[in-house]
Amino acid sequence: MPTKWNECELVSFKEIAPQTRLFTFKLLGDDVFSFKAGQFITFDLPVHEKRLYRWKSYSLANAPDNTNHFELCIVKNEGGLGTTYLFDQIIIGDKLKFKGPEGSFILPEKNPETLCFICTGTGIAPFRSMLWDICQNPVKPATIRVIFGTRKMENVLFLDEWRELIELLPDFQVHIALSRDEKLPLINEKNIFYYRGYVHQIYQHQKLFDMKEPTFYLCGWRNMIDEAQKNLLNLGFPSSHIQTELYG
Ligand SMILES: Cc1cc2nc3c(=O)[nH]c(=O)nc-3n(C[C@H](O)[C@H](O)[C@H](O)COP(=O)(O)OP(=O)(O)OC[C@H]3O[C@@H](n4cnc5c(N)ncnc54)[C@H](O)[C@@H]3O)c2cc1C
Repeated sequence: MPTKWNECELVSFKEIAPQTRLFTFKLLGDDVFSFKAGQFITFDLPVHEKRLYRWKSYSLANAPDNTNHFELCIVKNEGGLGTTYLFDQIIIGDKLKFKGPEGSFILPEKNPETLCFICTGTGIAPFRSMLWDICQNPVKPATIRVIFGTRKMENVLFLDEWRELIELLPDFQVHIALSRDEKLPLINEKNIFYYRGYVHQIYQHQKLFDMKEPTFYLCGWRNMIDEAQKNLLNLGFPSSHIQTELYG
């Protein structure tokens, strides 16, 4: 079947951390943009003649809301073809071709008892979508953990939203690993905990895993995903309980 391409328009964007933006697009036409939390879209960006270099995928970062708007959380890759275009060239009102939504990195049909989301950087995007989606559902997982890795405090994404979600979800904690922040004192707050280092030390911590049959969702770049997957299997978690979304 030929790929169905749609058109969207850039409505707004804001800088949410250094080199990181939350973009809002509007699907053109009268249709509602329907998707499942965790799915992604793929742009066909006018940056190269070969489609391999033009097609760039991004996770939908907002919860499905029956509107024709969608949000993407994107980090600029210095020298990267696609993100240089998205950060330096497009302006409000510009139109882009995209396909999707696509992807099976979505929440299970049956409400899971415990969810554990592990990510680095903009890998948080599908989890933001899932968490706000869960908030809209009457039945919620009993326990949700987010383990988020980034470089420094200034790179922590959506902190205000985690604070809101902590009040809305039954047992929700965010564990943040900072790999480059050596000087500042790290001050924990209600259900938000900071660590120096990488995500891996956190999910291997015994206390955190005093959880009933967690389902893991891993999202981000290859190095983190490969290591986390290997460690979780070594810890005895079944592969059927580990979902992954690889950014590259
Ligand atoms: C399903 C899917 C969903 C995605 N969702 C998002 C998303 O929500 N937000 C987002 O920012 N990106 C996301 N990506 C990555 C995105 O598609 C691009 O690969 C990214 O924006 C870089 O594109 P570029 O053209 O600027 O760089 P390229 O010119 O393609 O980059 C060249 C190289 O840099 C590597 N690279 C690029 N960025 C990084 C990085 N931050 N860390 C480590 N290596 C990197 C690439 O793997 C590649 O080898 C997703 C990818 C997939 C497959």
